[in-house]
Amino acid sequence: MSVRVRFAPSPTGPLHIGGVRTALYNYLFARSKGGKMLLRIEDTDQARYVPGAEQYIQDALKWLGIEIDEGPVVGGPHAPYKQSERKAIYKEYAQKLIDEGKAYFAFDTPEELDTMRKELEAAKVDNPSYNAVTRMQMKNSITLSADEVAQKIANGEPHVIRLKVPLKDEIRFKDLVRDWVVVHSSTIDDKVLMKADGMPTYHLANIVDDHLMEITHVIRGEEWLPSAPLHILLYRAFGWQHPEFAHLPLLLKPEGNGKLSKRDGVLGDFPVFPLQYTDPANGEVARGFKEDGFLPEATLNFLALLGWNPGTEQEIFSLEQLIDTFSLDRINKSGARFDIQKAKWFNQQYLRERSNEDLAGAVLPEAGSPEKAAQLVKLMKDRVTFASEITSEVPYLFKKPKSYDPEIVASKWNDQVKEAMPIIANILEGIPSEDFNSTQIHDVLFQSLTDMGIKAGKIMQAFRLAITGEGKGPDLMLMLEILGKKEVLERIETAIQVIQN
Ligand code: GLU
Repeated sequence: MSVRVRFAPSPTGPLHIGGVRTALYNYLFARSKGGKMLLRIEDTDQARYVPGAEQYIQDALKWLGIEIDEGPVVGGPHAPYKQSERKAIYKEYAQKLIDEGKAYFAFDTPEELDTMRKELEAAKVDNPSYNAVTRMQMKNSITLSADEVAQKIANGEPHVIRLKVPLKDEIRFKDLVRDWVVVHSSTIDDKVLMKADGMPTYHLANIVDDHLMEITHVIRGEEWLPSAPLHILLYRAFGWQHPEFAHLPLLLKPEGNGKLSKRDGVLGDFPVFPLQYTDPANGEVARGFKEDGFLPEATLNFLALLGWNPGTEQEIFSLEQLIDTFSLDRINKSGARFDIQKAKWFNQQYLRERSNEDLAGAVLPEAGSPEKAAQLVKLMKDRVTFASEITSEVPYLFKKPKSYDPEIVASKWNDQVKEAMPIIANILEGIPSEDFNSTQIHDVLFQSLTDMGIKAGKIMQAFRLAITGEGKGPDLMLMLEILGKKEVLERIETAIQVIQN
C-alpha cells in the first residue's frame, strides 16, 4: 500500500513552529516513500475558529516549500478536505455506531453532569468520569427505553452521541517513535463523538477522515499520544484497521525545561511562528521567522534536526538530501530544545550560499544604487546572520559618524596618530578618484607609509575610528572604496578637528 500522510491543523490561530515541524516530517516521510501528503483543515470547533488562520497555514507551508498533494486548495479524490464541509459524513458514521450498539445518545444536562462529577468525587472514586459503570445512572439510550429516546429526539432535546467504551479491554499498539503503548480501557471515558450542535468532535472526525482518506501513517505531536488509545477503540468500533502512529517529541523551551510556548518567544526575543501574525481580536503582532530574516531553507534545515537525528555529523541538508535521508526510526523520543542560536547559525550558512546578485537585489532599497548594493554584499556577506544586517550593521556607510568611541580615542589616538592622520589624507589625496578602489588604496597607502617609516599596524585602528566612529568592523579598505575619495577625506578632516579639540 502506498504511503499517505496528512497534516491536520486546526485553524485556531497562527500555526506554531512545532506545527510546521509536524508538517515537515510528514512531508519528508511522504516524499521519501514516494507517497502522498494531504492537508486537512480540522475546523469542527466553531468556537475556536479564527478567520485568517487557514490562509496563514497555506502561506506558511508555501513559504517553506512544503508541497501538498491533496488539500482544500489543490483538491483531490477525497474532497472536501475541510471538516466543516463534511458534517453529513460524520453524522452518518456516528449513526452507524449507534445502530451497531457501539455508541449511544446521551441527554444529560450540564447540571446533571456536574452533579454526577461531584458525587463521584465525594465518593472518592478513582476515575470520576462518564464510563461503563457510571453511564448506567445517567440519562442515555442505554438506560432509557427506545420510546423515551425516540420521544426526546423528536422533541428536539439537546443530546450528544457517546462512544460505548468497553469496561475491560486492553489497548496496545506500537508507536513508531514511542514503541509499545499499553492502556486499559477502564481509564478511558465514554467520549463524546457528536456534540449537541450537530458537529463531530475532533476524535470522531479525525478517525473517520483518516480512514476514508486512506491515511497509512499518522505523524503528529506528542500532545496527541493520550488520545491515541481512544482512537484505536474507535477504529475497532468501526471494524477498521488503524494506521501506524508516530508521535513526535515536544519542542522544549531554550533552557530545556517544559514545552516551548508563545511567551518564551517574547521573553527570549525570538519568533515561534513561521510568519508574522496579527491577532484579529486584539491587533497583537507575533513575530515570524520569515519577517525576522530567516531563509526558508535555513528554517527547514533547523526544524528537520529538531527531534530527528540523521545519524551522521552532517548538519547542512538541502530539502532533497533531507528527503533522501529521513526515516521515522531516527526520530528521538525525548523533547528537542529550541535553540534559536542554532537557527541563526543555519541562516548564516545558507546566506553565504546565496549568490551575490541575489543578496544585492535584497539590499538594493537600503543601499540606494546597484553598485553600492554589490559593494555592501562583498563587504558584509560573510559577517552577517541576516540579509538585513548587510546594511544595518554598517550605519556609518550611510551617514557620517556622529561620535567617536571614547575608549578607542583614549587608547589609540596618540601623538603618532595625530602626526600620521594628515599624512594618510595626503597619500589618499594622491590617488585619482577613478582608481579609488580597495586594492589600489591598500597598495598605495601601505607602500607609502612603509616608505616613510610609519608602522601602518600601529595607526590603523585610529584610522578606522576616524572613518566609522568605531574601533572595529568590516574590511576598512573596502569601506574606503564604498565611501569614495571625497567622503573619506572629509571624514579624516572632521575626525582630526573633533577628536583633537
Ligand atoms: N487537529 C489536530 C491539531 O490541531 C490534529 C491532531 C492529529 O494530527 O491527529 O493538531
